[in-house]
Amino acid sequence: MIACLGRIVHDSDAESKLDDDVSTIFNSLNLQGSIENGDVSGIASKDFGGLYSVKPLYLIRPSGAEDISRVVKAAAGTPHLTVAARGNGHSINGQAMADGGYVIDMRSTGENHFNLLTVNGSPCIDVSGGALWEDVLRRCVSRFGLAPRSWTDYLSLTVGGTLSNAGVSGQAFRYGPQTSNVTELEVVTGKGDITVCSETQNPELFFGALGGLGQFGIITRARVKLQPAPDMVRWIRVVYAEFEEFTRDAEFLVSQKEDESFDYVEGFVFCNNDDPVNGWPSVQLNPDQEFNPAHLPQTAGPVLYCLELAVHYRNSDQPSTVDMAVSRLVGGLGFVDGLISQVDVSYMGFLLRVKRAEQDAKANGVWDNPHPWLNLFVSKSDIVEFDRTVFKKMVKNGIGGPMLIYPLLRSKWDSRTSVALPEGEIFYIVALLRFAPKGPSVEKKVAENREIVKWCIKEGLDFKLYLPHYRAKEDWKRHFGNQWTRLEKRKANFDPMSILAPGQRIFKRTN
Ligand code: FAD
Repeated sequence: MIACLGRIVHDSDAESKLDDDVSTIFNSLNLQGSIENGDVSGIASKDFGGLYSVKPLYLIRPSGAEDISRVVKAAAGTPHLTVAARGNGHSINGQAMADGGYVIDMRSTGENHFNLLTVNGSPCIDVSGGALWEDVLRRCVSRFGLAPRSWTDYLSLTVGGTLSNAGVSGQAFRYGPQTSNVTELEVVTGKGDITVCSETQNPELFFGALGGLGQFGIITRARVKLQPAPDMVRWIRVVYAEFEEFTRDAEFLVSQKEDESFDYVEGFVFCNNDDPVNGWPSVQLNPDQEFNPAHLPQTAGPVLYCLELAVHYRNSDQPSTVDMAVSRLVGGLGFVDGLISQVDVSYMGFLLRVKRAEQDAKANGVWDNPHPWLNLFVSKSDIVEFDRTVFKKMVKNGIGGPMLIYPLLRSKWDSRTSVALPEGEIFYIVALLRFAPKGPSVEKKVAENREIVKWCIKEGLDFKLYLPHYRAKEDWKRHFGNQWTRLEKRKANFDPMSILAPGQRIFKRTN
């Protein structure tokens, strides 16, 4: 079989022969799932970023962990083949691609696991690494009245895809990222071993895989912590003219005890103008509550800040009780008088809010355009400087998409995972989510992102890229800092030939 794989690679121009060889490979791998030739127009050559495209040798749709193990072992038997798990392909920079290698479409395993269990008295759900979070949500709520505790803003992402990064949203200040909300994984390592791991069983693999950018294994099952799902959400937005006031309130809210704060805290920067994407209209939650700039103080600058908050409640709660709880929480905040907007939505409607934005963006053709996004974690100690230079100067005219900024707490992240974070307890996630086809070319937007990162490095800011993308080993070493040695050791242990996740460009395939 190994000889056969090598032959195919060298004869890859003979299309009809490849078809024969696909069935030879299929048989020799003894797959339960399916295999097809890599195709530049196929899903394995595309991602949400739309900036990169490479042609894989084969696209595999595995039936489960055994198929994945066979593919990894087959790749290990060649001198050069690599294997990339593809979740839902929502990376920006080709991270789920494999140039001339195997791409494993994890979505074919999405239904493999769905078992409710109790661990140490608390409910958990075993789900497939290839399951979409939106399916996990729907099934957990409808069948059990339960839901995971920590989310991403957008849920058409796979469990394995977000756990390989971190998975953050407005609940992370309380529960930590999604990587802090799993208790066990099943992983296929770069040696092809199917291994169950947890804090106590194979902990190096468990913590390595969490935030591990797919470097140590392919997550085929995750055990996710659950909590009772609320019925409804009061969704609130309040506006600030001054960055210092915005950060003071945001940091206060994320530092409060569980029953003394909101259930969700996020924020975004918007332009002080009527631009439909980045300006005043982007704040409005409710058509009846139009943004009225007359409330803004004279001192307001080119950009404004919005805290986005939510309170969970049950249908059985009295409306007056909910109103009182919200008034108490909002009452302590120093936002601009009159600039508050709120709406009541179902819990599912709230968590699936970006799905509606996706539908709109698909309808007007924006969704499929390239997305040169930039995501960073910036330490509290440098966030004022970041605001002054990046928000108030470099992107003050908007970016054609949301500019998120909200604080997170380092103590809610487990330092044994592979995620690289800034120092200090409070740091901000900053996300420049560029959408619109209008304005500067994609190249210019990519260059602007690069300029921001270069500026952060030059000024010595305490920051890390989230969903990192570097090409040079020196940059990766700087990114991981004093965790680099641990990363190398884990790589040597679990993927010694650097077969996995070649699209991250951290390690090169070896024999
Ligand atoms: P892919 O892009 O398919 O894969 C990402 C990486 O993980 C690749 O290297 C791949 O090889 C590897 N991988 C995939 N599956 C597995 C697996 N089972 N085991 C091991 N490795 C695997 N992130 C947030 O934290 N919060 C957000 O609110 C958020 N919102 C987003 C909104 C949109 C519209 C988009 C496009 C992205 C958003 N992201 C967010 C980023 C997202 O979490 C990451 O891009 C994530 O990797 C995408 O998941 P995916 O299933 O598409 O993974």
